[in-house]
Order: sequence, then C-alpha cells, then structure tokens
Amino acid sequence: MTTESLHTLFLTTTGAVTDTRKIEKDTMFFALRGENFNGNEFAEEAIEKGAKFAIVDDRKYKTSDRIITVNNCLLSLQELAKFHRKYINPTIIALTGSNGKTTTKELINAVLSKKYRTVATKGNLNNHIGVPLTLLSMDKTTEMGIVEMGANHLKEIQRLCDIATPNYGYITNFGKAHLEGFGGVEGVIKGKSELYDFLIGRYKTVFFNAEDEIQIEKLKHYDAKIGFSQTPKSDYQITLKNADPFVTLAFEDITINSNLIGTYNTTNIAVAITMGSYFEVSNKEIKEAIEAYKPSNNRSQIINSKNYKIILDAYNANPSSMKAALDNFNQLKDTTKLLILGDMFELGSEAEKEHQTIAMLAENLDFDATILVGENFYKTTTNALKFKSFDELKDYITKEIPTQKNILIKGSRGMALERILEYLNS
Ligand code: ATP
Ligand code: MG
Repeated sequence: MTTESLHTLFLTTTGAVTDTRKIEKDTMFFALRGENFNGNEFAEEAIEKGAKFAIVDDRKYKTSDRIITVNNCLLSLQELAKFHRKYINPTIIALTGSNGKTTTKELINAVLSKKYRTVATKGNLNNHIGVPLTLLSMDKTTEMGIVEMGANHLKEIQRLCDIATPNYGYITNFGKAHLEGFGGVEGVIKGKSELYDFLIGRYKTVFFNAEDEIQIEKLKHYDAKIGFSQTPKSDYQITLKNADPFVTLAFEDITINSNLIGTYNTTNIAVAITMGSYFEVSNKEIKEAIEAYKPSNNRSQIINSKNYKIILDAYNANPSSMKAALDNFNQLKDTTKLLILGDMFELGSEAEKEHQTIAMLAENLDFDATILVGENFYKTTTNALKFKSFDELKDYITKEIPTQKNILIKGSRGMALERILEYLNS
C-alpha cells in the first residue's frame, strides 16, 4: 500500500496508536515489534478493542479486511507521519539537546498556546516512534507543533528531522548525556547539531543560546538565527534576577516569577520568552503562561514536608545535570543541607571517571552530609556515606533520621530515588 493510500485511510480514523492499551474507538493500530514482543500478534485484539484498522507486516496475521499488510510497520508509521506533516502543514518547532528538552518544550507550549492552536509532544515521547505519533496527533487546525527529539546515537536527530521537517529549532545544550551511544562528548555535539545542520541546509531560522560557546561557534557563519542572553548584545535580553529558590527573570517591561528551581532553568525559560516574543505573544501573556507552569514527574520539584524542604530531581541524571543541580544546591546559604545522589546510567566506559568527578565535586562543595547510592557511586573514593543499593539507603534513613533542613535528591530514572520520600516523611 502506498503512503498516500494509507494516509487516506488514516484520515478516516481518530488517530494512530502503537500500544493496545491505548486503543480508542476508530484508531489506526500499528503492530510494531520490540525485542520481546511482536505487535502483529495483537492485531486482531486491536480490532476487537475498537481500532478501525490494524497495520501488520506479516501476512500470516491478515485475518480481515481491516488488517492491512505493509513491508515494515515502523517505516510505514514514520512515512505516514512525514506525509501527514506535509499535508496539514503546521509550523514545526523542534527541540533537542542533552538536558532540559521536556521542560523547555512544555514552557514553549505554554507560551505559544496563548496565541496559537498548538500540539506538543506528550510527556517524553521523543524517539523514532514518539515523534511520528506526535506528528500524527496534529490535524488541519494545528497552527504550531512543538516537537521534542531525543537521541542517543548519531544520525537519529537527522532522521527525526527528515520526518518532522521542522521550520524552526533549538538545542537546549550539549552536555554529558548518553556518552555511551554517541561515543564521547564530540559525538554528542555532532549528534545534537544535526538539528541545526538540517535547518541551516534549508535556510530556516534557528534559536540559540548566545552564551553557549559551542552554539556560537556552530552558527558563526549563519545569519538566520535568533539569540538570547543576559546582555544587550543579542536579539533578546533576558536577565536572571534571582533563583532563591525559584527562578525569576526580567524581560523588557515584565518580571517573571517561575515555579522552576535551579539556575539551569534560566535558559529553558529564556528561550520560551524569546519564542513567545518572536511569534508575537504579548509580554503579559508570556508572563502568565510561564508563571502558571508547574513542573511534574519528579522534575525539579520542591516538596515542603513536615521536617524538610526537599528538592526532588529524581527524573534523570547525567554528569552535566548533576553538576548543575549541585552548583544550584550549593548556592543555598544559612541552612543545613543533605545531598542524596543516585547512580548516573548510560555512561559506558566513562562511568567510573564521571562518578568519581561528581563524588569529588560533592565533597568540595558546602554540604553538611552526602549520601551516594548505587553500584557506580559505591566504587568511588570519597568521604561520603555510600550504599550499594536503594534498600540499604532506605534502612539507613529509617534508623538515622536526617537532621538537615534541606535535602537534594537526584539520580537516574532507573534509580527511582523518589521512593525515599515516603521514608523521609514518616
Ligand atoms: P530526557 O533525556 O529524559 O528526555 P530532557 O532533556 O527532556 O530529558 P528534562 O526532563 O526537561 O530534560 O529535565 C531533566 C533534568 O535535566 C532536570 O530535572 C534537571 O536536573 C536537568 N536540566 C534541565 N534543564 C537543564 C539545562 N538547561 N542544563 C542542564 N541541566 C538541565
Ligand atoms: Mg524529555
């Protein structure tokens, strides 16, 4: 079946799904394959659950007219998304980078939705399946699409750009995340830059952080760029007023009091202001949108419990976001501080070195106590208290109740350090 014919059928459905648990009436189900499953096996179930069509890539499973065979379901999903994007033709803003993509995406969406009909990536659906699903969730009424693109290998962003054909783009930062897949920091820069390369090749406008040396270097011979920084020398001047603990920024005649903590959120907010202003959202509405945005999913939340003020940042962690979080926690003055850090995943051969660096950084900053958890941190040489597993941490915390007033909790998603909250609050 051609992509065009598949699209004609798609337009008669209520949307695309790849998960049988998310099937709603008249959807189009794509039977993707994973390491441990073959979606084709669920095609009939999908139809029974209400899907209008099920797309399979093994003829064996074509048991009704509503089950359609293609060569490769994943490829068909991607090509359909690409076709659909061209057909509905919204303005697409793509975001990538090592840290802060989701936060930035949500802030930009909050701002732009004040003036436009927007669709943004749901949650963290930012990969080779999530990006197509995001595009397929847009329709003719969508004016702007804000698409988060994640990658842990070279050429992935290029492929996602080929599908989404963004009109604008922004890279949050080039940090130390997914070093394993990219093969080191140079690989990260190259991989994330594929977004700027794509846009530059089509003479599209890019947004950039005019204080980021790598971005400045990358774009130095390119004109179609909009920069923001704390100084008047860039297109948009946005200054950090304080981060005590919430980030407050000033832009033209407005002061924005965000609900985000961590100075690293400065650029995440600043680009949302920049895009809002560029796309002619009023300053009043930019302020309203950002002030109304509250982070969720353990992403830099402040929790005021009975005995503690907890900064919970247990959504993910890598060397650059760890350093940003530690520096930020270090800025809190005149109080007592406990740091609880969990392992950083996906660092490959750099794991030992990077955990040691963070352990040393923690030791050299001004915290009253530091607890490191996980197999990697356990191997570091440090004065901090170390535990191999979460259970050991839990046993310790329940016996030795922390006396510090402020607690920063940060670790990779797999560590799920938010589990410690229930033991701290009891
Ligand atoms: P993922 O790779 O999981 O999609 P992401 O890039 O979408 O992550 P967020 O979910 O927005 O990032 O933020 C995750 C964490 O990254 C935050 O809790 C914070 O610790 C850190 N972080 C956010 N923004 C920045 C930034 N601009 N620079 C450095 N670290 C940041
Ligand atoms: Mg994300």
